[in-house]
Amino acid sequence: MSGTYLGMPAFPRAAAAATRDSRLRANLRHATHTIRDKRAKAVAELDDWDRLRAAGAAVKDRTLRHLDHYLEQLETAVTDAGGQVHWAADADEANRIVTRLVRETGETEVVKVKSMATQEIGLNEALAEAGIRAYETDLAELIVQLGRDLPSHILVPAIHRNRSEIRDIFRREMASWGRAAPEGLSDSPAELAEAARLHLREKFLTAKVGISGANFMVAESGTLVVVESEGNGRMCLTLPETLISVVGIEKTVPTWQDLEVYLQLLPRSSTAERMNPYTSTWTGTTDGDGPRTFHLVLLDNGRTDTLADTVGRQALRCIRCSACLNVCPVYERAGGHAYGSPYPGPIGAILTPQFRGTEGTLEASLPYASSLCGACYEVCPVAIDIPEVLVHLRERVVEGGPVVRNGVRTVLRPARGHAAERAAMRAAGWAFDHPDALRRGMRLAARTRRLHPRRLPGPGRAWSDTRELPAVPAESFRDWWQRTRGTSGREGSAE
Ligand code: SF4
Repeated sequence: MSGTYLGMPAFPRAAAAATRDSRLRANLRHATHTIRDKRAKAVAELDDWDRLRAAGAAVKDRTLRHLDHYLEQLETAVTDAGGQVHWAADADEANRIVTRLVRETGETEVVKVKSMATQEIGLNEALAEAGIRAYETDLAELIVQLGRDLPSHILVPAIHRNRSEIRDIFRREMASWGRAAPEGLSDSPAELAEAARLHLREKFLTAKVGISGANFMVAESGTLVVVESEGNGRMCLTLPETLISVVGIEKTVPTWQDLEVYLQLLPRSSTAERMNPYTSTWTGTTDGDGPRTFHLVLLDNGRTDTLADTVGRQALRCIRCSACLNVCPVYERAGGHAYGSPYPGPIGAILTPQFRGTEGTLEASLPYASSLCGACYEVCPVAIDIPEVLVHLRERVVEGGPVVRNGVRTVLRPARGHAAERAAMRAAGWAFDHPDALRRGMRLAARTRRLHPRRLPGPGRAWSDTRELPAVPAESFRDWWQRTRGTSGREGSAE
């Protein structure tokens, strides 16, 4: 696995490779089932969970409807508190801004706290090209970085690794990134955590620049919020002289009172805790306390286009808890890398095609990476109807049709490979419009049923290779109805 998602194959191909890896499947099954069971217990403790969930959805919807207003309020509040706000329309612009800001400090090394937005824009690679080395400080991100790997889960980016693999990575790689792993390091969790602590402490104490994301931004006060379990994030946010936070614009919440809702929903849904062990908040800069310079880079990168889609925009409510991943039967078998972006699982299947568009092979395949069982919707703390958005995006892939990209409305042609499906749907539509032709076709199919192949030829083969084709009955329902009731199906219908 390389350190970039660029050029990854369509979901079915990547998933096929992952499902053959029995160790990966065992790691995923064990981890996701453990987290999902704990989450269910934590959620069951609250009598008003459904009301909290509805409030979480409503506050996000209201904020997104007036996002322009809240973003301007946020900008004013951050600036008044001594911070500097930068606007980035896309990944390239965000990378250029951050690279320039780091260069202006004269530093060539930065520490980072886990940030999905910076994964999304490929910041580490952009910094490396500019001769700046970024050190990941979240334990799981550290494992991913040392293993020259990619995150495969929102909350537990190294979920695909077990303890002995992590020990081997630490032994092999730590020395080339700083302090080496202790002699005789075992795979006990305590020893692995201690090795990471010693390795990272050196970085925290020397780094002059920190880069972070944020879980929320409170517009009324210009405050950013990071929740985490390890405390590494807090070190990264407070020790460096310069802090640069790269945050998606949809992370805005209007007030502290609104924030309260999410500080209850998020920990129970993600780590099954009543509250996060570390909740760090910062507002601009304060003399003698924390970073002397604070920059906020507000990232669009497809978000306003997503906002323009009345069905798809609900994906922007996501608070990245990962509950939908942990209950998804497809994620459990395919793993996170098959989704080709830092957003894996059900939420990735609806976010990535909206952020990047459905023109690419990988992006066009993601809305199909689901059985539409609905388990993701059931657990989502902000009630995102992921199956609804998946079906909506499938329609966009098959039909082509209008999308808004960078504010420009474009009519897409259907993605390659879906022309056959579209033609089949047209043929079915014609047949249902012509009942006599449909009846004759069904009779012919019934008479020749012994001759039907068990696998479809041509492009249909990929579909029938993984499914049992239904057997055609000897008699159609309409003929059975007419024979037993003496009327045609049409006459017997209530319609
Ligand atoms: S879609 Fe819902 S369940 Fe999935 S990560 Fe986002 S908030 Fe959590």
